Amino acid sequence: METIDSGAGLESIVVDLLNSLSAVKDLSELNCNAGNEKELINNALAVLIQNQDMERCSLFILNEQGILVNLAGLSLAETSKTSDALKKAYKPLQFKIGEGIIGAAALTGELQHCQDCSTDERFANQAKQTSYELPGSIISVPIYTDVELVAVLNISHPQSYHFNDWHIRMLGIYKNMLGQLITNYRLFQQMEDQIVKRTEKLEQALSDLNVLKDHFESISMIDQLTGLYNRRYFYEQAEIAIANTKRYGQALCFLVLDLDHFKKVNDTYGHGFGDEVLIKTAKALQQQVRDSDILIRFGGEEFVVIFTNTSCANGGLFAERIRKEIEALKWGKEEFIQTISIGLYCLSSKSCLFENAELINVDKLFHFADTALYEAKNKGRNKVVIFNNEALQK
Ligand code: GH3
Ligand code: MG
Ligand code: MG
Repeated sequence: METIDSGAGLESIVVDLLNSLSAVKDLSELNCNAGNEKELINNALAVLIQNQDMERCSLFILNEQGILVNLAGLSLAETSKTSDALKKAYKPLQFKIGEGIIGAAALTGELQHCQDCSTDERFANQAKQTSYELPGSIISVPIYTDVELVAVLNISHPQSYHFNDWHIRMLGIYKNMLGQLITNYRLFQQMEDQIVKRTEKLEQALSDLNVLKDHFESISMIDQLTGLYNRRYFYEQAEIAIANTKRYGQALCFLVLDLDHFKKVNDTYGHGFGDEVLIKTAKALQQQVRDSDILIRFGGEEFVVIFTNTSCANGGLFAERIRKEIEALKWGKEEFIQTISIGLYCLSSKSCLFENAELINVDKLFHFADTALYEAKNKGRNKVVIFNNEALQK
């Protein structure tokens, strides 16, 4: 330890102390969100260079092959007396563990202090290998993350016997801070990588989910809004019902139902209320049909009902009951009444005879019922119109 024997000596110790505190403060404030590890280390070494007389400091990082490679900071090739040609040909210096003073720091895990490089054995090999200007004195300190050796910090000076206890103590602090900085940086990187990977996975899962959703929607036979069967289910079932009528002579009634002035409902009360009307109408219809009947939401505010095994007279009564039921629904809006128009076509065994049975199909039935619906609308809406079978026979 140096003794303090004058005011000038005390002053220099105070300056050293302040510089060291500044270095510690600046190091602790370094942002570990650097572009890469080299940039981070350069920033850290810049702090040491600024605040301490460590103009020649460098850092050797331990690579995956277990070699210590000069990553950042002033190295021998960058000192002022090194020729331009040498600087050009410069390849990052590297040492194996145990090799030279840097390798010795890595091997022993302890600070290595070479007070006079020209006579120190640990430096002899390097002196032979390189044609760079050699330093007078050098200190190498190993840097650890929480668990393992990651680098060796190196400071050198052209004069031998330059470094004192103060330098050695401060380097003990700096190496810990650098170790923490590298640990934080790597954890931060790992976290970022994880986030990127997770985000990619999440986006993939979401896109898979959408594909699946589209697929199920495309094969689904259920209308999402009302829970009724949709058009896809309808055609298959209607074909079966028609085939049964043709084969067994059981009459069926085919109804096309359409809410009146529904566009105005949306326009007046909003689309959300319009949806509520559709849902409630669907429920009311469900209560009016038997399990053996077919009820579907054909699209928009249009529904289709097939009363199987039902005569024309009964079909007309059922249709009228539906019309009244919808008209009587309460909506929680004083003057609002929703009405429905219904077109009905009755397919009896008799009409099968009149028609060429082969020509009777779903589209035809739909067309006939729709023609009746058109008439119901024309006659002022909120009506049931039965398609005129006689007209068909002419
Ligand atoms: P009409 O009495 O002649 O049948 O008149 P309308 O207004 O009922 O018939 P139009 O075909 O002009 O309008 C049907 C409206 O139904 C327009 C459309 O926005 C609405 N609509 C269709 N599907 C839905 C739905 O799922 N939800 C809601 N809220 N509205 C729908
Ligand atoms: Mg309508
Ligand atoms: Mg319509």
